[in-house]
Amino acid sequence: MKFDHKVLDILSKAAEDVAPTREECKRLLALGEATPEAFAVRAAAGAIVRGKNENAAYIYGQIGVEVEPCEANCSFCAFSKDYTGFGRVRMDDASIAQRTHEFTDGGDMFGLCVMTMHKYDKDFFLHAVDIARANAPSGTRIVSNIGDTDYEAFAEMKAAGLDSVYHVCRLGEGKYTKLDPKDRIRTMENAKKAGLDLLDTLEPIGPEHGADELLDNIFRTIEMECLVAGAMKRTPVPGTPFENTGSITDLRLAQILAIVALAMLHLKRYPAILIHEPGPMGLVSGGNLISAETGVNPRDTAADTAAGRGLDVDACRRMLHEAGFTALCRGDDTKVALTPEYIEAARR
Ligand code: SF4
Repeated sequence: MKFDHKVLDILSKAAEDVAPTREECKRLLALGEATPEAFAVRAAAGAIVRGKNENAAYIYGQIGVEVEPCEANCSFCAFSKDYTGFGRVRMDDASIAQRTHEFTDGGDMFGLCVMTMHKYDKDFFLHAVDIARANAPSGTRIVSNIGDTDYEAFAEMKAAGLDSVYHVCRLGEGKYTKLDPKDRIRTMENAKKAGLDLLDTLEPIGPEHGADELLDNIFRTIEMECLVAGAMKRTPVPGTPFENTGSITDLRLAQILAIVALAMLHLKRYPAILIHEPGPMGLVSGGNLISAETGVNPRDTAADTAAGRGLDVDACRRMLHEAGFTALCRGDDTKVALTPEYIEAARR
């Protein structure tokens, strides 16, 4: 077997904290997913990420508090107005409080994300943040996943207890969505200006996405100095235009995730690396953050994803333990040992 030694050079440098250049990332993206070099890339990223944070992992959670047919009309989403089977659903206060407790009691959750549609009612969202903040432990970050937002609104949300913002200029933005990429990027800048941490992911990755498109997004995450980076593949949601267009394999997703993880060596503050949807392959390839989900979910046609695609927190702990992580890192950067005894005790 002949091994591309240039790949080994890139990985050796990465092991010494030297980030791959854009051209080097492109070389790694061009590797066939089942080649020895691609396996080496995954393995190196897995070891490097674990070395960055004492083999600790992160659990993130998302509560979809409001859904309606969404004007952004993203072709990959279960809420798009042209394809959705959902009407308007809004979670009541008691349910938001209850779901917050279910996710965050015990304090292991790194960040709890409150999700709405692209166009959202700011007062309702502030109210939902208020409930989440009041019912979550102080060490758990409260995160938004909302539509394009200006600086003033983010400043108001920060005052209400929001810590971080999940916002992405997605692959195919403006082509598969009715949103302007410039507005998406401006929203990311507004969040940063308001003093909120930014969470980003390379998503939703489909088989048609070429290296340059992937790299533009990866290097934007670096430019924005995000607290979270990662990779998510496109789910072929029934009833959407992507229902039958196929998707990338988990093996390819893990390769792309590994390259994201290596590229993040450009950042001084090394981010958590989200793999979505959660799975063992991503967790040995640089992923160290997975997400529990409840309520509505853009990749699921069920009204409560907890009964469908979503994992609960106990399942997240178990998956991370099985992947060999030995600690959980909480939102305030404290760590707790992830042992079978701890997992059992936390479940009760
Ligand atoms: S992905 Fe978000 S913005 Fe796009 S249609 Fe779905 S809810 Fe709306």
